[in-house]
Amino acid sequence: MPAIVKIPQTPSEYEDIVSYLKSNTIPTHVQNNRITKSNFVRRCKKFVVDERNILYVPTVCDNTEKRRRVVPKYDEELRKLILERFHNQANHRNYHKTYSAISENHIGITQEEVQEYVNKCTACAINTSIKEKTDMVSIVSRAPWKHNMHLYVFEIPYCSADASNNRCYTLPKRCI
Ligand SMILES: [Zn+2]
Repeated sequence: MPAIVKIPQTPSEYEDIVSYLKSNTIPTHVQNNRITKSNFVRRCKKFVVDERNILYVPTVCDNTEKRRRVVPKYDEELRKLILERFHNQANHRNYHKTYSAISENHIGITQEEVQEYVNKCTACAINTSIKEKTDMVSIVSRAPWKHNMHLYVFEIPYCSADASNNRCYTLPKRCI
């Protein structure tokens, strides 16, 4: 079970982590409180940073260390690029495939978000509707009424045409 990593919520949180990893700088707002400070340091240790100041979360998978790029929620532009790259430019594959390809190298985009994106994809909606039309198989009957022929047996209650009579009758069982 991989450790739960709290993705930076704001650009300043992101920068704080980057600057700690790069130069061991503790941000001023956590310096005075011992617990906050140690929590911050512990949190930072879950990340690594590259020369472009991009944060990654290292994970060990099959004895190989992999890095997953941190995709913060506020970075709309990056999220859009990733979704386009892994869905639109990847043959509009379904959301399961899109999500597993994204999550292999990124952290911070949820399965629900990918599903929502794919559900809203206009190209996919058009393709699905075309596919559904071609998937429809018409029922061709070889014999007339073969598919609709049933024998109904039931009782039909009816009222006498003679209103003064004021009595109801039940027809005998019959076939229609
Ligand atoms: Zn699509």
